[in-house]
Amino acid sequence: MGRIAQTDGLTDVQADILAAVRTFVDKEILPNAGDLEKKDEYPEEIINAMKEMGLFGITIPEQYGGLGESLLTYALVVEEIARGWMSVSGVINTHFIVAYLVLQHGSEEQRARLLPKMATGDCRGAFSLSEPGCGSDVSAITTRAERDGDDYVITGQKMWLTNGARSGVVATLVKTDEGADSVYKNMTTFLLEKEPGFGTHGGITIPGKLDKLGYKGVETTEMILDGHRVPASAILGGEDKAGRGFYQMMDGVEVGRVNVAARACGIMIRAFELGIAYAQQRRTFGHQIADHQAIAFKLAEMATKVEAGHLMMVNAARKKDNGERNDVEAGMAKYLASEYCHEVTTESFRIHGGYGYSKEYEIERLYREAPFMLIGEGTSEVQKRIISRALLKEYKLH
Ligand SMILES: Cc1cc2nc3c(=O)[nH]c(=O)nc-3n(C[C@H](O)[C@H](O)[C@H](O)COP(=O)(O)OP(=O)(O)OC[C@H]3O[C@@H](n4cnc5c(N)ncnc54)[C@H](O)[C@@H]3O)c2cc1C
Repeated sequence: MGRIAQTDGLTDVQADILAAVRTFVDKEILPNAGDLEKKDEYPEEIINAMKEMGLFGITIPEQYGGLGESLLTYALVVEEIARGWMSVSGVINTHFIVAYLVLQHGSEEQRARLLPKMATGDCRGAFSLSEPGCGSDVSAITTRAERDGDDYVITGQKMWLTNGARSGVVATLVKTDEGADSVYKNMTTFLLEKEPGFGTHGGITIPGKLDKLGYKGVETTEMILDGHRVPASAILGGEDKAGRGFYQMMDGVEVGRVNVAARACGIMIRAFELGIAYAQQRRTFGHQIADHQAIAFKLAEMATKVEAGHLMMVNAARKKDNGERNDVEAGMAKYLASEYCHEVTTESFRIHGGYGYSKEYEIERLYREAPFMLIGEGTSEVQKRIISRALLKEYKLH
């Protein structure tokens, strides 16, 4: 382990968890990732081992069977896992956001019923905002829930559900008619509980997995809601939280942004490790390519970007752990880490010369995984909207 992306001030428990995860990544994930990714195969054994390690319940309080750890611990674990294979971190990411939503915004009944089985990983979470017609512009969602007696009937199509098939609970944002004058107050989050798997169960259909550039192994799906009937108690937080859905989901997205920043850091740490190793193995013109200043400077730039992304991610996580609002910090960390991740993987790819283009080399996989970091939990343009809006408010002249 090198000197970059180290974190000061960790507790003994945090250090122990991270050491265990790093050993697991080196022994179980890194040697198998290439093969599983080529076959687009779900990493069943790896996930089972992660369940055993308690990683599905890492932030869930001990009273519900989890480890009760902080956002920082979670983010550092995600960074380690993404260093091994980003797809594996994807299996816990929306799960973690949904557990967070249930904990922060759920009713006591929802917490007591869902969190214990989420802590073991037996019930997985998926998070559904996006639709075929919108992602960045959440106000444009068209999936609707109509009140019918004590129930709601939900109709519409959702898109891009990470863990769409294997999940047992999907936090789903839909439009409801609250008679409010703001579109954002006419949105409600439902906890849709379903059987894991593809196909139709009740009014929910998970058609099949979407074929993607990278991020293989973990499924990304659509979800079709065809008159799906749920009781009003399926609203996140209970019936009186109808109309609060947008704000609840944005709270989830905020911790999700730290999570994506951590994943981006994991990918770029690995890209750097591969680049600096290759630069000392490959020889041209009688020297290691690392002896050419152009390549050595690339390594310096890459390491600096990794360090900056890591520090901003840690800062955003710590702010949230201290109970402070971290919308700007999380936006900045996600924006910077994902852009740097893209740049660092590209530079490592270039250091590898023609071999970077070969599927035999790990950097080829990272090169395909990095662009997703620019998109998930809000694109860079969306982060810049959030950051600039907050700054203009704070630095308002008059
Ligand atoms: C592999 C994968 C997994 C995903 N998992 C999930 C998931 O689990 N749950 C979920 O809900 N969603 C998920 N998503 C969806 C993801 O959150 C969206 O793709 C993302 O928010 C962007 O939305 P969009 O694709 O509709 O792009 P659009 O919103 O259509 O944006 C298109 C382009 O326009 C730019 N743009 C949009 N608005 C503005 C503006 N105001 N100013 C400047 N530029 C702008 C964007 O930055 C982008 O470059 C996933 C996506 C992928 C690819």
